[in-house]
Amino acid sequence: MTSISNGSVSDLEIPRIPALRNRLENRPVAGGKRVLLAAPRGYCAGVDRAVIAVEKALENFGAPVYVRKQIVHNIHVVSTLEQKGAIFVDDVGEVPVGARVVFSAHGVSPAVVRGAADRQLQTIDATCPLVTKVHREAMRFARDDFEILLIGHAGHEEVEGTMGHAPERTTLVNSPADVANIVVKNPDNLVWLSQTTLSVDETMETVRLLRERFPTLQNPPSDDICYATQNRQVAIKKVAQDADLVIVVGSANSSNTVRLVDVALEYGAAAAYRVDYASEIRQEWLDGVNTVGVTSGASVPEVLVQQVLDDLADAGYGDVSQVVTAEEDLMFSLPKELRKDAAGNPDERALGGRIRQLDWQKTAIASDNVIASDSVIIDD
Ligand code: SF4
Repeated sequence: MTSISNGSVSDLEIPRIPALRNRLENRPVAGGKRVLLAAPRGYCAGVDRAVIAVEKALENFGAPVYVRKQIVHNIHVVSTLEQKGAIFVDDVGEVPVGARVVFSAHGVSPAVVRGAADRQLQTIDATCPLVTKVHREAMRFARDDFEILLIGHAGHEEVEGTMGHAPERTTLVNSPADVANIVVKNPDNLVWLSQTTLSVDETMETVRLLRERFPTLQNPPSDDICYATQNRQVAIKKVAQDADLVIVVGSANSSNTVRLVDVALEYGAAAAYRVDYASEIRQEWLDGVNTVGVTSGASVPEVLVQQVLDDLADAGYGDVSQVVTAEEDLMFSLPKELRKDAAGNPDERALGGRIRQLDWQKTAIASDNVIASDSVIIDD
């Protein structure tokens, strides 16, 4: 097995299917073969927190635990949690009256919260705190009579949740091509906000076009595209410059994953493909390839990347170098309903998710001072 270390841990492991090993042939190419592994990649703090929230709800309260929408956009994570007793539903109306439901990392609108209350559901809100930040911005700007131009993808759960916080005052801007057709009531009282998982470059282009039309357009108080999305895009930009092929691990409905494919192609990769599992890598993708770039979306457990590296090693790409463009140490506290264990005692994971491999992080989690650390956000 190829050895890597990026400080992330996942207990959502699936057994390797032995028949899938040695599926790829080690065909000769002119020059050497190598892998450039982007870092950061994989799990962000918001995903880590949301996955643990479901695991811990199952542990504390027993199965079934209902989850509205996919807790995070990754089919492996969802199917693993289903095996543990989670039941995923599209609407709170599908949850039995009085049952327990977890809201996903992508957030919900106030209408969903009201729907849950109408059914006397016991809710656990695993909305990423960085999505909640955008919700609060939307409410504040709406209260101050601004019109909000929300840059994001129609139909995405996060966009639905954010728009639901200021439905009368929000207009969705899907892409730069949308800008010419935007209709506003007062062009001098506009602010733009965005989905957290967009392409930074495309969003800035959309903002540039919006500002051409509406010169007094205000910026959000801080970046809405989250640190994890930005860091993964910076890392793959660097890798893509030297890659003949980029493989992005992640699911098709994961916005930040799909953006990584786009960014890799924009920044020089000759080809880029998304896979959920290593078994989807095709032999012909590797024809004539010297350098393979590998990364993963923010909802992808590291075990899935490791399996891609194993398969690439079978094909002769066992020389793996990490390309590190940032160190991440952000952790979020768990939802307040889950900060105690089943016996009612404080749970150390409440301070920020799973135990990490890095020694200083283990120290931090065990320390009383962790709440004061800049690397930890306590969300209520
Ligand atoms: S991708 Fe960003 S906004 Fe989404 S869960 Fe992760 S940290 Fe939060």
